[in-house]
Order: sequence, then structure tokens, then C-alpha cells
Amino acid sequence: MKKLYFTPVITGEKEAALRAEVRSFLDHYGAFNVSNIIDSWSICDPELSRALAEKGWLGMTWPTEYGGGSRSYLERYVVIEELLAAGAPVGAHWVADRQSGPLLLRFGSEEQRQYFLPKIVRGECFFAIGMSEPNSGSDLASIKTRAEKVDGGWLINGSKIWTSWAHVCHQMITLCRTAPPSDNRHAGMSQLIVDLSQKGITVRPIITLAGEAHFNEIFFDDVFVPDNRVVGQVNEGWSQVVAELAFERSGPERFLSSYQLLEAAIKELRETNLMQQAEPIIGKFVARLMVLRQMSLSVANQLQEGKLPINEASVVKDLGTSFEQELPEAMRLILATEPRSSANGGVARLLSDSILKAPSFSLRGGTREILRGIIARGLGLR
Ligand SMILES: Cc1cc2nc3c(=O)[nH]c(=O)nc-3n(C[C@H](O)[C@H](O)[C@H](O)COP(=O)(O)OP(=O)(O)OC[C@H]3O[C@@H](n4cnc5c(N)ncnc54)[C@H](O)[C@@H]3O)c2cc1C
Repeated sequence: MKKLYFTPVITGEKEAALRAEVRSFLDHYGAFNVSNIIDSWSICDPELSRALAEKGWLGMTWPTEYGGGSRSYLERYVVIEELLAAGAPVGAHWVADRQSGPLLLRFGSEEQRQYFLPKIVRGECFFAIGMSEPNSGSDLASIKTRAEKVDGGWLINGSKIWTSWAHVCHQMITLCRTAPPSDNRHAGMSQLIVDLSQKGITVRPIITLAGEAHFNEIFFDDVFVPDNRVVGQVNEGWSQVVAELAFERSGPERFLSSYQLLEAAIKELRETNLMQQAEPIIGKFVARLMVLRQMSLSVANQLQEGKLPINEASVVKDLGTSFEQELPEAMRLILATEPRSSANGGVARLLSDSILKAPSFSLRGGTREILRGIIARGLGLR
């Protein structure tokens, strides 16, 4: 059996200074809207994204020639950990910073890098993920959206679904079938950068259980995409998507979506003198959080070393989403406060929001069952 590598990482003075700088920025930025705190990386606030861009906290690890900060993955980890722990609504730039930019750095043309990366770094260009379709989620290779070759580019027809923030984003990296299906299910797909303001695109919102309209259905009706917007090689999109998903699965957002609830619960348990009986439960969650944090830091360090730790990232996402999904129900049972969606903040609101949002945590970015399949294959067990 192959092994998983989670080499411990110790952050140093540089990271500590940066952490203090992020905390100071957050102290001065002001309070975030109460409805944005839980799962804050799924909430868009373009103004905040631009403020973070001004601090140099978008595209932090990218080369300076594309406007990036040439900083380390550990430094990026520190910044995003602090933002998420504070419940900052970082969703507007999240996908571009986490995966579209790195994808373009790895597979994009020089022209695409020079055009898109500086805009992302300045907080002027947000990206959506166009992978899932009505009957193709886990089985992504079965997508039906087609791009047909025409003079100077491609014509897209079909639809995508669950596309987070497509109504706010400017561009979407869209997985399309560019050759008919064959015996090799993973052949014949390409990634195209689609300008979402383009003629022929209809974006229709889908309301979530929590009452938010954050994701959408998208319909393509003869949408033209020029040749220079194909990422990497035509028909070789599958291996690029696999790499992109590794970027998507590796970060602390996979266990910090309900973090604010844990902090608020500890505070309330202390204030209501219920901590003593709740301690064993709180202790287990805090211990799990610390382990997840170390594992995620180790993934960040492996990215720094140029590795693509697909299995380790999948393990962090699987364990992390279990943690952030179990937390709301465990806190509901030990707290004196009942969940209340109309509450204007506080534990009642955090509980309610996290209960309503938690079911999606283990679906987005690849379901639990799919991740366990990937891990088993990576370990040579299937
Ligand atoms: C909040 C949220 C945001 C999202 N944002 C985006 C986005 O921006 N862009 C995008 O492209 N997609 C997005 N998605 C879609 C997400 O990637 C899919 O929901 C996910 O891949 C699962 O696909 P599905 O919904 O079709 O479920 P299915 O694939 O139909 O799965 C249903 C159930 O069957 C199980 N299952 C399926 N196949 C197997 C198998 N082979 N073995 C065992 N069990 C299996 C699954 O684990 C799951 O429990 C988002 C989803 C959510 C919830």
C-alpha cells in the first residue's frame, strides 16, 4: 500500500508577523454582516476582495511578472486562515485566487496569463467553475455541453448547474466536450474560458436551503469563444481538471466553514457555567481542529515544494468536511440557546445558519464517497 505524507510544518517569525498584519487589517475593516459569517468563503463581497487586493493578498504565491506576490504557500495559508476564522466574506475572488489562476499558471498560454492574472490580483476579475451539469456531478466525464469548432473559435451549446456566483463573476472556466465520446471516457474534453457577459448566456439563480441565491443554472445558446481562450491542449481537458480539483480541495476552507460557531459556543458555555459538562465534547472538536490544521499546513508546504498532493488534499477535505458538518449538531445539543434564523447575530443565528448550510459541505468540490474512491485508488487499494 502506498503512503500518505503529512510532514509536520512549523511556521516562523515571518508568518507570525503576517498573521498580526491580517488581524490588524480585520480589526480596522469593521464588522461583517451577520448573515455572512458561516461559510464565509461562499459569500461575495467585491469591495472586501478589492481591499484585500490592495494589501497584496490575492495571487500571493504567483510570480511578480504577472502581478503576484511571489510569496510562499505558508504565507498564503496564514492569510486565508485568518480571514476564514474571522468570517470574512471572501467568495468573490476565492475561485480565481485558489484555482483558476494556478490553473492558468500551469496550463494556460502566455497571453492568457498576462491578460488574466494581473486583473485577478487587482480584484478586478472573478472566476466561476463550470464543471457540473444536471446529470453529471460525480460522474463528470459524462458531461454533455458541447463546443464545436468554427472559424476562429468554438460555439458552445448546453448547460451547467450549481455554478457558484456566476451572476457576479466575469469569467468561467467551462469544461466542454470538444470531441464525441469514445471508449476512453476521459478523452475529448477541453477547458474554455468563457466571458459571462457574452451574448447567448442565460444565468438563472437556484435558492439554497438557507434562502440564499449563491449558485445558478447556466444555459449556453451558440456562445462563441475565440481560439485563444482554450486552456492548454484541445481534448486534453481531463488531466487539467484533475489538477484543478487538487487546488480546490487542499485548503483550510474545508474545515473552517463553521469555525465561528465553535468560538461563540465556547464563549457562551463559559458564560452560562455549562463548560464543565461540555468540556469532553469541546475538547474533541478542538483536538480534531488542531490536527486538521497541521494536515492542511502540510499540504500547503507540499504545494510550496512543487508537488501535487492529490491524496493528502482529498483526506483533508474528507476529514475536514466531516468535522464542520458534525459541529453544528453537537453544539446544538450542548448549548442552552436554540437555533433561530431571524436572530440578529449571536449563537442562535450561527447555529441556525450552520445547520442549514452544513449539508452542502460534503457535496461541493467532490462528494465524500468520490473522495474516498480517489484516496483508495491513490493508496493502491482499488
Ligand atoms: C454549495 C455548492 C456549490 C457548488 N458549486 C459548484 C460550482 O461552482 N461549479 C460546479 O461545477 N459545481 C458546483 N457544485 C456541484 C458539486 O460539484 C456537485 O454537487 C458534486 O460534484 C456532486 O454531484 P451531484 O450533485 O450531481 O450529485 P451525484 O453525483 O448525483 O451524487 C449523489 C450521491 O451519490 C453518491 N455517488 C455518486 N456516484 C457515486 C459512486 N460512483 N460511488 C459511490 N457513491 C456515489 C454521491 O457521493 C452523492 O452522495 C456545487 C455544489 C454545492 C453543494
